[in-house]
Amino acid sequence: MRVVPARDGGLARLRLPGGELGAHAARAVAHAARTCGSGAIEVTNRANLQLRGIRADAHAALVGIALDAGLGPAAASGDDIRNVMLSPLASDETRALAARIVAAMQADTSLHALSPKFALQLDGGERLAMLDHPHDLWLSAIDGGARFAFGFAGTMPRGPDDVSALGAIVRGEVVPFVTKVLRRFVALATPAEARMRDLLARIDATHFLKAVGFDADVRVWRRAPADDTLRLGAHEEPHRATWYAGAQAPLGRLDASTLDALAELASTRAEGRLMMTPWQGVLIPGIATNDTHDVVQRLRALGLPTEPRDPLARLIACAGSAGCAKSRADTKADAHRLAPLLSAPDRDRVHLSGCERSCPAAHPVAATLLARAPGHYDLYRGERLVARNLTIEEAAERLARSHTDA
Ligand code: SF4
Repeated sequence: MRVVPARDGGLARLRLPGGELGAHAARAVAHAARTCGSGAIEVTNRANLQLRGIRADAHAALVGIALDAGLGPAAASGDDIRNVMLSPLASDETRALAARIVAAMQADTSLHALSPKFALQLDGGERLAMLDHPHDLWLSAIDGGARFAFGFAGTMPRGPDDVSALGAIVRGEVVPFVTKVLRRFVALATPAEARMRDLLARIDATHFLKAVGFDADVRVWRRAPADDTLRLGAHEEPHRATWYAGAQAPLGRLDASTLDALAELASTRAEGRLMMTPWQGVLIPGIATNDTHDVVQRLRALGLPTEPRDPLARLIACAGSAGCAKSRADTKADAHRLAPLLSAPDRDRVHLSGCERSCPAAHPVAATLLARAPGHYDLYRGERLVARNLTIEEAAERLARSHTDA
């Protein structure tokens, strides 16, 4: 497990298969956060977990707890490449296919050279899916799941002007296809070409695909729209007689006692599983109809927003100056000051970033507050600079105004 230094101590990432965390493993993570680190746990925008404030003398203990909880990789050198994103509502069938892809990637040591940022998405066509993050390789179920459309270095096509799928592959060929693509990438990419977009800037995608082999043309295919409000609140589960309840981790953060409480809730009121989401939240699946209201109330009592219009459900902030030496402001504290000033009906996401790297936003969001100095931010709407050097109070006022101006 990689532990990287940060201003508030070591930062350890725990990769979860498709964001899934059993209640037992969740309790182990909470224990690790408490005993090896500061107790702060972050849900990442790839539905993994990060533990903050890891002490230098606690790395071995942390690895031991993670391995005992079944959260380790099949091979140590394969930890970083377990990057296959699924919908939090992915079916058992889709999860099993993703597990076979990850197992094949880990079994092939030549693929361990892939960058930790190299990312795949396996989409079952669910109504709740992250469709905005670009992926190095994405696959999306078509023809009732008999085939998967695929593309490189981007997102699935949704509109007429989007880049089309490159082709489709039958379900039974997905695992060998993915390993062939990745092997070819590793063979052709130079050390400077860590991502598929880097390689495809030099080599045409058709040329790249020549030795891989794929099925018929699917250029007219467009991914059906998803609805990211389904990540919050209670909803019936597709193809099941149960419900799920979704909540936001405020600014992507949980603490150890909250994770323990979520594990308890999942064990006693559902089927003992938590699903982390790429919106930095959590879903509890498998809730009986009669328990649904109570589970949502308990999530709220834990301080986790369950409504899309709750300001803390639409604010994201990087680690800020408390956790990152690059940050020009304490973005998390400023976001907590901003939240009560935001108007409730607005559903746009607002991102506070301590520097230009924009770590927590894997894709552009509606409004970005880029720190200039402690407590002061430039406001962007998309790429457009709207206002400079705003205080938090001024930012709230300009956000409301620029929303009506837009
Ligand atoms: S966005 Fe910048 S300041 Fe914030 S965590 Fe990333 S590198 Fe640090």
